Amino acid sequence: MFLKSRNESDLLKLLGFLNTRMILSEDERKQYLYLKKGYEGEVAFDLLTAANLNREMFILNDIMLEINHSKFQIDSSLIIQDTIIPCEVKNYEGNYFYKDGEFQLCSAKRPITNPLHQLKRTETLLQQYLKKNGFPFRILPYLVFINPKFFLYQAPQNDSIIFPPQLSSFMEKLNSKPFNLNGMQQKLADKLIADHKIESPYPKLPPYEYHSLQKGMTCAICDSFFITCDERKLTCKNCGFEEEVESAVIRSAEELKLLFPTLRVTTNIIFDWCKVIGSRKTIRRILQKYYKVIGCKQWTYYK
Ligand SMILES: [Zn+2]
Repeated sequence: MFLKSRNESDLLKLLGFLNTRMILSEDERKQYLYLKKGYEGEVAFDLLTAANLNREMFILNDIMLEINHSKFQIDSSLIIQDTIIPCEVKNYEGNYFYKDGEFQLCSAKRPITNPLHQLKRTETLLQQYLKKNGFPFRILPYLVFINPKFFLYQAPQNDSIIFPPQLSSFMEKLNSKPFNLNGMQQKLADKLIADHKIESPYPKLPPYEYHSLQKGMTCAICDSFFITCDERKLTCKNCGFEEEVESAVIRSAEELKLLFPTLRVTTNIIFDWCKVIGSRKTIRRILQKYYKVIGCKQWTYYK
């Protein structure tokens, strides 16, 4: 059972908004696409575990912990009997080779950050965490390559690496482990969830200001600004997606609030931000319906 679900992080959401509304540097755009691809891989792994693993098994997605001033993140943690299985999920695509203990993309000159080192670090820190909190669990870490278009030349024979063709036998192996809940599993899961840290995304973003961002509503599916709007719905001229005006206005207001957490949401600012809505009256009506009204007349804002 999924005890902690996975959501797109605020950092990924914000980078997506900025990618749509300003020109990111090449490095910033790379970071955005890397995070997006990683997230898609983790979601693909969630779908696999949800469909194939014993329903009683505890699965915790995307946990960030801290021990002795070191933070570490676990993409998926499975708890079975007296064992915790941290999985590092990689959505690498294309041809790589393995040489002298390093992974390298065939088309690149330098090795990439070694995911086995990352896995080792997670194991070490998780060991310290379990010890400090008095949980006598074994750790069985795995590096999971989820993308069927990934290929590794000269792959090492290493039981803790799961390649795409091995995913189904990996699930079968997990399901075949003895499985008796004795309360400790739930205790550990509760502790991990309670200790999950949420990091502020803002220090990791490129600098931006309200005035320098492109205004206008974007399509919820393809992010296009090429939108037309009538009384009740918005239509994307790029992909054809239609959305109720109310839902689109609230989505745009939420985007603005995440980008500028200290900004006061007013009718005028949402009118300026959305651009395609013809009347302030429509905006005011929607904001009044979904948010708490604070102040009155020209000092009104919404929370
Ligand atoms: Zn669209």
